[in-house]
Amino acid sequence: MECIFCKIVDNTLPSRKIYEDDDNVAILDINPASPGHVLVIPKKHKMDIFDIEGLDLRRTIEVVKLIAEKLKKELNTPNMNIIQNNGRIAGQIVDHLHIHVVPRFPNDNIDFRIPRYEMGQDQFYEIQKKLNINSKLPDPPTPSPKTETEEKK
Ligand code: AMP
Ligand code: ZN
Repeated sequence: MECIFCKIVDNTLPSRKIYEDDDNVAILDINPASPGHVLVIPKKHKMDIFDIEGLDLRRTIEVVKLIAEKLKKELNTPNMNIIQNNGRIAGQIVDHLHIHVVPRFPNDNIDFRIPRYEMGQDQFYEIQKKLNINSKLPDPPTPSPKTETEEKK
């Protein structure tokens, strides 16, 4: 078995565990973003969000909540980032699902903010149509009035 988190789960690789139940463990990240950076890991080898069953994920999220409450209390901070990476492009390094719980402190110089850009009405409409599961779609955007040069073409 090559997976480092499976080895941590079965104790063939040492780790700094702070919590364990039948389904999940929580360990201190070996290279923390901040003191108290915890990884919550389901014991079953599940690669990512697409691989794990809903019920198992719910149990893992319950542990995330427990850990977040513990960090809040013991480290005196309600500021926290909870992050889970899927795939290389998204920054996943270890291919065994895990959820990062990162407590935040004033001036900790961590920047997890997501870069953002402005998107046009047409593109919003197309993406909403494509992703729509069960909500009522808005009317398509009205085309913007053509400029004189465009009309002559
Ligand atoms: P990700 O980029 O979401 O796959 O994050 C993987 C995380 O696992 C990183 O934050 C690593 O520091 C952490 N990590 C890797 N190996 C170990 C280990 N043996 N014990 C604890 N944390 C680890
Ligand atoms: Zn594994």
